[in-house]
Amino acid sequence: MKKIAQREKNQYLRHARNQAQRKLQQLGHPATIVNNSELASRLALAGLIPLGNYGKKSSATALIAWYRGLDSKDKIKRPQKKVNKKVVTSDDFLQSWEWTNLRYRVLQFHGRQCQCCGAKPPAVILHVDHIKPRSKYPELALEFDNLQVLCASCNKGKSNKHEDDFRDEDWKKKHRMEELLFKEMMLGLNDDEKQELLKLLTLEF
Ligand SMILES: [Zn+2]
Repeated sequence: MKKIAQREKNQYLRHARNQAQRKLQQLGHPATIVNNSELASRLALAGLIPLGNYGKKSSATALIAWYRGLDSKDKIKRPQKKVNKKVVTSDDFLQSWEWTNLRYRVLQFHGRQCQCCGAKPPAVILHVDHIKPRSKYPELALEFDNLQVLCASCNKGKSNKHEDDFRDEDWKKKHRMEELLFKEMMLGLNDDEKQELLKLLTLEF
């Protein structure tokens, strides 16, 4: 990012905050007023900026960088997610904002049902399972693609020894459709992508 003056920076930050709130609302996040740190965390969770510990200063910088990137019609690049193995494998991870929100998104997307045995609450407690266990693949701990819904028993049986994927075959298409709809709203689609989206929209999920 080129150096920008403080006044200009504040202006950018205001625009960046507005843009980020709008974008997150379109993604289904609640329309609440949050501070820069939380806003940056939410963008990170949506895969728009790298995951990180966003403090007061670093969150402002990250928001502005993201906004300027968006403004210049750059393609949104999928950020390299850096994760700390110690943090990811700790029990605290399961209470973190990043995890609880991602976990909820997975339940929304795949539904409230064990994808292995079909059991539903309240008969069972549902877990969001790391297909590739986070103890062995900490870098995949916050990857939507690595998560499925299992009941407590199925998850216990799977433990960290198995890496079975019980998701139905269409989930990737549905996920791709959501990605394209999101991109259409934000940046617009090229002709190939438009065709792809039209095809996906005719499928029933
Ligand atoms: Zn089950």
